[in-house]
Order: sequence, then structure tokens, then C-alpha cells
Amino acid sequence: MKIAWFCIPAHGHTNPTLGIVKELTSAGHEIYYFSFEMFREKIEKAGAHFISCDGCDFEMEDKGNADKVGKDMAFAAELLVNSTLALDEKVSAKVKELSPDIIVSDSVAYWGKLTAMKYNIPYVSSTTTFAFNNQSSRYMKHGIGELFNMLFTMPKANKHIKKLRDKGYPVKSIIEIVQNSNDTNTIVYTSKYFQPCAETFSDKYHFIGPSIRPVEKAVEKTAEKTVYISMGTVVKNEEIYRSCIEAFKGTDYQVIISTGTNSCNFGSLPDNIQVYESVDQMAVLSIADVFITHCGMNSASEGLYFEVPLILCPQTPEQGAVAARTAELGAGVMLDSYGKDDIKKAVETVLNDAKYKEAAKKISESFKSAGGAKEARLFLESLIK
Ligand code: UDP
Repeated sequence: MKIAWFCIPAHGHTNPTLGIVKELTSAGHEIYYFSFEMFREKIEKAGAHFISCDGCDFEMEDKGNADKVGKDMAFAAELLVNSTLALDEKVSAKVKELSPDIIVSDSVAYWGKLTAMKYNIPYVSSTTTFAFNNQSSRYMKHGIGELFNMLFTMPKANKHIKKLRDKGYPVKSIIEIVQNSNDTNTIVYTSKYFQPCAETFSDKYHFIGPSIRPVEKAVEKTAEKTVYISMGTVVKNEEIYRSCIEAFKGTDYQVIISTGTNSCNFGSLPDNIQVYESVDQMAVLSIADVFITHCGMNSASEGLYFEVPLILCPQTPEQGAVAARTAELGAGVMLDSYGKDDIKKAVETVLNDAKYKEAAKKISESFKSAGGAKEARLFLESLIK
């Protein structure tokens, strides 16, 4: 089987796909992965043929914007037309040459879906967030309804739709592109248990569980309780890190902070607190007792996979949905303000009541029995029989 795979240039959207790519290529299938140079190495390592989309003149070349696409659906929608047109020549030529059996495309890499429509190739959505429909989007404070209202009033985008039609994309409306219906074959990297309103999705949705990387370098546990703090690779929130340092200095906790892309300067640190720009998150989570997180889908899932209860600090509507679901299932405590006393109290609450750990364990079990990359492979294979 030959698959053309499309993704946006963001780690959080690329990483979860690599396990499936490896599973498929190991089984002898050919994957042609359309992505961006900075992801070439890991994509090729997973056994796929890498096809570079760099050099096409559209706004996603700016990395800041690229990350925003993953976080901010409104922004993604605005880029939909421009990015597809910018990539049209290159992608169309390559897809015609390859004639793939299936196109798998990240749910916000709209050019993949549009290419599938243009050439009438079976399309599968790769959804690295929760699956969102009218019901589950209620878990976001600014739900999908608001997004749609905004899209309808986006004159620029609607004007450009015509340009897409002129290039052979049979598009009726923007909504049709950004929304996946219950008829869309979809891979979701979570379990049915963790997915809000899972029962409202058709059996075209395959909830395969998160993709967990192996621990590469073990981290030593130096205290009875280990607190891990990370706001992911995109959010810049030095205030939280500073409050955490204030909250935990002089305590018995081992505290590990990953500042992500920030280059923060916290001066001299107490012995029990270590700050890094980046850590082996799997290694840290495997010794952590509580995880203060921005609730990126990957981070939250990884924490819960390791049965670590979460202190929930969402920064975007999508992260808000992850936080709300975690709190609803009892595996975390929402942090509404980031003062040092609030943080300390939340950590003590979670550490002193076993129910949080129990709830995290239940979610972890659902992840482990969700089927993973193998389930995704069997599903994709079933589509071309
Ligand atoms: N990550 C990591 N080391 C770090 C911080 C983050 O490996 O020090 C990884 C983390 O394991 C996760 C990803 O970066 O897989 C972050 O993705 P997520 O969806 O949680 O958040 P984003 O960074 O996209 O906001």
C-alpha cells in the first residue's frame, strides 16, 4: 500500500504519527511524508520517504506561526487557502506521480485533505487533539461554534475559496474543510475513555491511544516525592516557573522544571530544584509523583500514561478541554491562579489523596489497551481491501 502523509510543522502534531509510520513501513507499506526540513530526520528514521514542503512562499514558513496553527484554529483557518495554493504546484505534481492509495493528513494540515478531494483519493484524518464535534467542543471555553461564526465572516478567506476552485479543488465552503463529519475516517491519539463524548463519534473514529516514546536516559529519583513542571514547547510563562521555585524552595520535594524553548534566568537555585531547557520527559514522568502541566494533549497524555496526577494550568481553549476532561475524570486539580501558595496547596492536595493517582491509573489503563500503532495499521489496511 502507498500512503501520502501530510502534517504541519509542529512537534506536537508530528511525534504521535511516527509510531504508526514505523509500524506501516515495517510491514512493507510505502509512506511518502510531506513535511518540513526540521522534521526530516525523525520522519526518515521512522522509515518514510521525506518530501520537503519548505521553500513554498506562505506564512507557515515562520516557525512562530507554524506552532500557532496547532494551537489556534482560527489562525489555521485563515491560512488554509494561502497554504494550499502555495503548495499546490509541488504537492499536485508529486501526488500525480505517486498515485497513493490513501492520503492521511493532520486535521489542521488542510492542504492534505484538499489534495485528497482534488484527486479523489480516500482520505484519513490524523487528529492529535481530542476529536471535536458539537458535543465535545463544549469542553473548550471558546468552542467550535465561535470558530464557525468567525469563519463565516472571514471575507478574505471566502474570496480565496474561488481561487481554490480555479485550481481544481472542488470546495464548497471553508466549513467543509475544517470540520470532519462522522463519515470521515479518523485516527485519534487517545482512548475512548479519555475522549469527551466518545459515544457521539461514529465507528469511523479509531481511538488508538497516545504514542509514548521509550525512556532514553533514566533520571535519578532523589526524594520521596518528585514534582515535575513543564509548560510544553510553545507556551512562554516564566511566572509559573518562578512561583514554583518560590513554592518549593526549602521543601523535601525533588523538583524538576523544563522551561521548553525559554531561556529563563532564575539566578541561584535551591539544591532540591533543577531547571532545564528540555528534559527526557518520559524519563522524568516515570519517576514523578505530580505533574504541573499546561495540558498540551501530548504532555497530559504522557503524564497520565505514567499514572501521574496532573495540576492543570491550561493556556489555550484546546488545552482547556484537556484540563476539563482530566479534572472530570478525577485525575487532576485545576489551578486558577499561579501564586506560590495556590501551587503548593494544589500539589499537597494531589499528593495526600490517593484518589487522584487511582484516577490517573484508570486513564493509563485505557491508553494501554487502546490498540496503538498496530490498530491504526489494521484500520488503514482495511480501507484498501
Ligand atoms: N517535551 C520533551 N521535553 C521537554 C518538554 C516537552 O520531550 O522538556 C515533549 C513532550 O514530551 C511532548 C511535547 O514535547 O511530547 C510537547 O507537546 P504538547 O502537546 O504537550 O505541548 P506543546 O509543546 O505542543 O504546547
